[in-house]
Amino acid sequence: MYRRIFAIAFGICALAGFFFFAPTTATAQSGATYTVQPGDTLGEIATRFGTSVEALAAANNITNVNVLAVGQVLVIPGAPQMLPFVTSYPGETLEDVAGRWGLPADQLAAINEVDLAVRLFPGQPIYLPPSIPAGETLRFGVVTELDYPAQIVQGQTGWLSVQSRRPISLTVEWNGLPLAMAAHPLLDGEVRYTAHIPVPALLGPGPFPLDVSYPARNGVRVRHTTLIDIVSGGYPSQAINLPPDRGALLAPALVQAELITVTTAWSATDTPIQWSGPFLRPIAEEYQTTSAYGIRRSYDGGPYNNYHAGQDFGAPVGVMVTAPAAGIVALAEPLVVRGNVVILDHGRGVFTGYWHLSDILVEAGQQVDTGDLLGLVGNTGLSTGAHLHWELRIYGIAVDPMQFLTAPLFPE
Ligand SMILES: [Zn+2]
Repeated sequence: MYRRIFAIAFGICALAGFFFFAPTTATAQSGATYTVQPGDTLGEIATRFGTSVEALAAANNITNVNVLAVGQVLVIPGAPQMLPFVTSYPGETLEDVAGRWGLPADQLAAINEVDLAVRLFPGQPIYLPPSIPAGETLRFGVVTELDYPAQIVQGQTGWLSVQSRRPISLTVEWNGLPLAMAAHPLLDGEVRYTAHIPVPALLGPGPFPLDVSYPARNGVRVRHTTLIDIVSGGYPSQAINLPPDRGALLAPALVQAELITVTTAWSATDTPIQWSGPFLRPIAEEYQTTSAYGIRRSYDGGPYNNYHAGQDFGAPVGVMVTAPAAGIVALAEPLVVRGNVVILDHGRGVFTGYWHLSDILVEAGQQVDTGDLLGLVGNTGLSTGAHLHWELRIYGIAVDPMQFLTAPLFPE
């Protein structure tokens, strides 16, 4: 389900799906107001909402704290209490959950008012402390090192490295999304596993779980979960008015059919890694960015529920577009919305796409090397002028391609 949600990369409706994968956020009762019930006292209400009698009285202009009317609506001062929560696995006790998240067990017991030894209902929500432990290097079982970023900006990609004393059948899920791990054998039978951690531009901000597990020799699954803090990308908004003859291209049936074509092309995760080192620019330096990745977009006065999934470089028709890294051509054909399209498979779920070309100069299945000619800049499809739209997808998630030109996000 998660994969399908991200395939629909530019739907704000997809946001709803993220909350299935927690840590979800719980809001204290009614949020900002509370209606006084029979028997209530100001002291009890203050305790319930984690505030004080004085703060409640001040926020509601109450002069006599002993007089409350049933039905009176009180403003609760301060932000509503927000705690992230996770759900338990079948058979887990609160102590297991604490171990899995590397949290002090008694702190978790106090927050949730549950005895440590009690077996939880599968899926029972367990509230976590608001402070997020992340970014530490730690070990569990035969895993000697687990390295990941403490925080990642929306739309950026993180790099995960897991080191084990012996080969293991590692399963890693990033917010419910299985990551394709690449194994690198080391000395003395040790193995290092690596993967990209892609963050959708519309995810969060907030903490999201990274779940690492493997079956031990006795068959018991050893598991560790942690949180990565997703921080705002601060992406600007842009209103786009399409020329009248191009507007018709946004017909939902056309958009949907084409989405299935490109989604199928970039869905493979089992292609071996085709490249190493940073990517090169797919177009000469003189052609500058005209529209950056991540910008929230509204078309023809509609809502800002789209975002720019790639990087646009302004260039006249006919300028050369080249492969930024080695790969296999996954798609090379004319489409209605994206125009003449080339998609490259770089391995392990990493794909790059080139839209609106005037000419396609490669064929599907062809192996290309860094710098090989893919096609020429054009103005085909849903485009308001000649330019190259370049996008980078990992497991179908559109991330900022420019990060791949500089950051160490590549296999060694
Ligand atoms: Zn674009």
